[in-house]
Amino acid sequence: MKQVYALCDVNAMYAACESVFDPTLVGRPVIVASNNDGCAVARNKEAKALGVKMGQPIFELREHIEKNGLVVCSSNYALYGDMSFRFMQALSACSPRVMPYSIDEAFLDLTGIESVVSYEDFGHQVKDLVKQWTGLPICVGIAPSPTLAKLANHGAKQYPATNGVVDLTDQVRQRRLLSLTPTGEIWGIGSKLSKRLEALGIRTGLQLADADPKWIRKHFSVVVERTVRELNGVPCHTDILEVAPAKQQIVCSKSFGSPVTDLDSMLSAVSHHASRAGEKLRGERRECGYLSVFMSTSRYRATDQYANQKGIALPFPTADSREITRHAVDLARKLWRDGYRYNKVGINLSDFRTPGANQSDFFSQIEDEQRDKDLMVTLDRINSIAGKNSVQFGRQIHKNKSWEMRRENLSPAYTTRWADIPTVKC
Ligand SMILES: [Mg+2]
Repeated sequence: MKQVYALCDVNAMYAACESVFDPTLVGRPVIVASNNDGCAVARNKEAKALGVKMGQPIFELREHIEKNGLVVCSSNYALYGDMSFRFMQALSACSPRVMPYSIDEAFLDLTGIESVVSYEDFGHQVKDLVKQWTGLPICVGIAPSPTLAKLANHGAKQYPATNGVVDLTDQVRQRRLLSLTPTGEIWGIGSKLSKRLEALGIRTGLQLADADPKWIRKHFSVVVERTVRELNGVPCHTDILEVAPAKQQIVCSKSFGSPVTDLDSMLSAVSHHASRAGEKLRGERRECGYLSVFMSTSRYRATDQYANQKGIALPFPTADSREITRHAVDLARKLWRDGYRYNKVGINLSDFRTPGANQSDFFSQIEDEQRDKDLMVTLDRINSIAGKNSVQFGRQIHKNKSWEMRRENLSPAYTTRWADIPTVKC
């Protein structure tokens, strides 16, 4: 049977999540700011129309805020993460196979559905259901390969007449849209490859689709060859949809809300990131064999700059937050130099191993090891139910939390904290 995929993608996800719970934002230009309210990391279409750029510093937008009603929201990742989960749940009600690809997009397997309903009608049903269940607006692109489904989704976003759904299962329509699409906009091509392709006379998606796959493999790579086949409706990239590639490293770091000048605050921040990294590592069901810590002053300072990092190969691979924190704190003490105004610290875990595959400490007791593992499982379970950092290590708690993020326009945790549930007046 002919394979068919739908790519469902939320329109301006972060701004949309904010608008769901604050309807006064609908129709207004909205951006979401990075940690510490530094620069724009997400924009809705009204904000794009004002000319707000990705990564633009917030202080440059004062005029838009005052004259054009631009709304700046602090990033609320607890809200976006939970809304993403709800979005995926809604999609699961539409197809037996949902392949999440990022926080706001997922591929659905629609193979065989045509015998019940037309692809376009089904796309509208999915779009309406997601809207009804979550309040989020999405676009749906339907095609015989993931790359063409991406292209269809792009078309649905670009052309309002499509009403958010494009069925690209027909070859004539595929070729027409491909002829209007520069190669750089094809999924997986990007600006570097598109320049090389252009030098060879391949400027549009259609020219790429018509290129000889063997010639492409010889001059580029097997990955680009697969893209060519995908553009001709042959699904090849399906393997990347099945399993997310195993992580090679975990990095937990953030810039401080205000500069840190004392060692105690620094160690409290290091412990916080270390235990967060440990939690992520256990979530991946891995242990790490190498750990490093980095710290730095702001690179925008003219003088008194300092940046350094130190790592350690662990004697025994571990996923125990207490071990990770102990080593991270030791490294941080070694890195610390008095007299600087630090603005960033982070932890990097790598050299991942499968738990149980390594020889453990000769002197350790098996019962102790099991008890340590149980403790971490319990810790993660409590924190996942009661909220992040409900249970934390002593060192993480520090009276002066100047290093915490600045989030002045943070919306409530509408969907994950009882006290923040919105009330509706009738
Ligand atoms: Mg999106």
